[in-house]
Amino acid sequence: MENKGVLFVISAPAGCGKDTILNEFFLHTNTAGYAVSATTRKPREGEINGVHYHFLTVEDFKAKIQCGEVLEYTEYCGNYYGTLKKSVNDLINSGKDAVLKIEVEGAMNIRKQFPDSCLVFILPPSLEVLEQRLRGRGTETEEKIIERTTQAKNELKFAENYDYLIVNDDLKTAVDDLLSVFRAEKLRRTRCGEVLKNVMGEKN
Ligand code: ADP
Ligand code: 5GP
Repeated sequence: MENKGVLFVISAPAGCGKDTILNEFFLHTNTAGYAVSATTRKPREGEINGVHYHFLTVEDFKAKIQCGEVLEYTEYCGNYYGTLKKSVNDLINSGKDAVLKIEVEGAMNIRKQFPDSCLVFILPPSLEVLEQRLRGRGTETEEKIIERTTQAKNELKFAENYDYLIVNDDLKTAVDDLLSVFRAEKLRRTRCGEVLKNVMGEKN
């Protein structure tokens, strides 16, 4: 029997480098896939429906909640974001690890529902660098930058509830760290009971 896919949750305040790290990460792994969330936020330039998010109207988002299609959801900076059951199940059922890129409340919610999930928090080198990166990205208005920086400070307080902390200073190091976390988690004894049985000749 194959070992089951692991549910990985990656969180970080806006501007910490989640997308940059994950884009690079996915170039170096073929055992994990991205669980695409739903959101009512407008697409940013270059974002593709169904790839980066399922972009929904508020009505359609609420309908999905009503139908039980959403594992968890939250309102973040004026928009709804939610993890779709189907996105996660499709990955896990195909034997892959599922990567959820969600904010802190959603992460705590997932941990409650899936105690076996692995939670990774990405930190900026400092709050000053975080604000610089958010500005440098050029996707947000000044008002949104202030809103997201304030939100970031609140979110950092949740880091102590996570299993792993990765500081995104040098990008390559941060990506290597994330790859190491995935490798180590897959080798956890509690996740690979079949390996021991095989070695002992107890495979049925
Ligand atoms: P998030 O997805 O967490 O909101 P992004 O991946 O969009 O963050 O990164 C925010 C900005 O910071 C982007 O302009 C990105 O190019 C830059 N950035 C990300 N990681 C690093 C890094 N290690 N060093 C310098 N700049 C970075
Ligand atoms: P952004 O607008 O920058 O794409 O995302 C804003 C925040 O929403 C980020 O912290 C991101 O991780 C989070 N987010 C994205 N999808 C989900 C989701 O399905 N559930 C929750 N709880 N947060 C999400």
